[in-house]
Amino acid sequence: MKFTVASRGDSLSNDLCKTIKERLLKGDLIYDEEHPDIVITVGGDGTLLEAFHLYSHRLEETAFVGIHTGHLGFYADWVPEEAENLVTHIIKTPYQIVEYPLLEVVIRYRNGRPSKRHLALNESTIKSSEGSLVCNVEIKGETFETFRGDGLCMSTPSGSTAYNKALGGAILHPSLASIQLSEMASINNRIYRTLGSPLVLPQHHTCLLKLLNNVSVQVTIDHFNVPIFDENVDTIQCRVAEEKVRFARFRPFPFWKRVKESFISG
Ligand code: NAP
Ligand code: MN
Repeated sequence: MKFTVASRGDSLSNDLCKTIKERLLKGDLIYDEEHPDIVITVGGDGTLLEAFHLYSHRLEETAFVGIHTGHLGFYADWVPEEAENLVTHIIKTPYQIVEYPLLEVVIRYRNGRPSKRHLALNESTIKSSEGSLVCNVEIKGETFETFRGDGLCMSTPSGSTAYNKALGGAILHPSLASIQLSEMASINNRIYRTLGSPLVLPQHHTCLLKLLNNVSVQVTIDHFNVPIFDENVDTIQCRVAEEKVRFARFRPFPFWKRVKESFISG
């Protein structure tokens, strides 16, 4: 089996990566950064997000597992003290796989620039970088509302504990193949009206954000900004992706337990 390790870059994470790599090589696994069957990240959720994007072109062949060297993460849910145990499990294989839904985002431009497709593990956001963002929100081809405000966030179930949560969105279990749209400071008065609550869309319900004003926008996918050229974004289309992310599971750590230990009490 082929593996790779990815570190957050601090000395603790780097050292742990080195130890894990040596142990797995001794266990006759092959180190392969190009075509890994398993990617072990050491750092935090951000480290796993980066690894996800590095290998998003081969999700069917790659499984992820995360160790956290800081606080408990949602993707990085192993502590460094368990690394030895984790390594033994990986060498022994086969392991169980759990799959989580992803968000597909297609950005289309007005000036004929080719559209661009992205996958998000957490979310995609659109914000105006000057004044209010005004856009039509279409659901399944029908206009739903005209949004006016700071921006919108479209999150995956496993991303619902990230930015989405800060926007008052619900926490969704990753077994629900869905995406959640939440608002950032919508303007609501006699003239402008939006739903005001987060909404959850099932598979095959496409949400299309159609920009109505000519402000320059900032579009994010997880931790990175999408390069936007010439202020010419026309639409942003979001839906549940066909692809899924695969996590290697070596012991049960139910989602609600992770939510409790992260936000309520460990
Ligand atoms: P960051 O600034 O380090 O991330 C912010 C925090 O979100 C970190 O504590 C990170 O954990 C945590 N996080 C990431 N994914 C999560 C998840 N699925 N559930 C719960 N917490 C999660 O930047 P980053 O590490 O590159 O992460 C990018 C993410 O930051 C974005 O995808 C977005 O969700 C989030 N973000 C949140 C806000 C907000 O809440 N207002 C604003 C901007 C971005 P680690 O420390 O373990 O990395
Ligand atoms: Mn981070």
